Amino acid sequence: MEVLIEGSSRLDIELDGEQVERFRTYYDELIAWNRNVNLTAVTSWDEVQERHFLDSLGVASALPDPVLDGSARVLDVGSGAGFPGLPLKIAYPRADLTLLEATAKKTAFLYHVVDKLGLQGVEVVTGRAEGEAHRSEMREQFGAVVSRAVARLDVLAELCLPFCSVGGRMIAQKGPKVEEELGQARRAIDTLGGLFDDRDMLVAPLVGVGTLVTIEKHRPSPANYPRRPGIPSKRPL
Ligand code: SAH
Repeated sequence: MEVLIEGSSRLDIELDGEQVERFRTYYDELIAWNRNVNLTAVTSWDEVQERHFLDSLGVASALPDPVLDGSARVLDVGSGAGFPGLPLKIAYPRADLTLLEATAKKTAFLYHVVDKLGLQGVEVVTGRAEGEAHRSEMREQFGAVVSRAVARLDVLAELCLPFCSVGGRMIAQKGPKVEEELGQARRAIDTLGGLFDDRDMLVAPLVGVGTLVTIEKHRPSPANYPRRPGIPSKRPL
């Protein structure tokens, strides 16, 4: 557990025994299910702690307090096996979390692990962002929308910003080289009601090579976005 405990304290997150135990259970279930469902390429305990758990917890520094204390909702788009949403929920148990994932086999795992960990206040939705973002229970309902390894920023802006409330933000976990992606995403961000500010680009504390891109939402997204499933990635704005 050293990796997890040391790493999280570097992020100013103190995990108690119960939380550490939950991460261990999460790992065990991830590995058990990974035999049948393609959930993770990294499988050793040390690597999963670094590259899934701590990498996910690195997002916490960009989350506003109302999201951490559960007074505003947070959405994870394209959550896969639960990253970054579930590690954040384990660390901040009061968070009001929704996990959105298109693949039913993966949401079957998410339902299972949420139940196994006894987490309250987590909703799992099987669906695509393009459709879900037009449902009134989902549209502009979230104080923060997080996403890791789902799409390029221009595509991601169209998939994520419609879920953000005005005054909320989307946070994308990206690799070391985001400048080019950012340049290409400016128009999409503006179209969707986002405001990009270079000062908000943070270096993710732990990963060192990672970048958290924070995009504030300052006006509503036009009703015709996101476009039909597949179109955002086929014809980026
Ligand atoms: N965020 C996880 C998974 C990344 S893989 C992690 O970092 O480990 C990308 C995931 O996004 C896949 O599980 C895929 O099914 C999902 N996905 C891709 N496009 C999507 C969309 N438009 N709506 C919902 N989920 C999507």
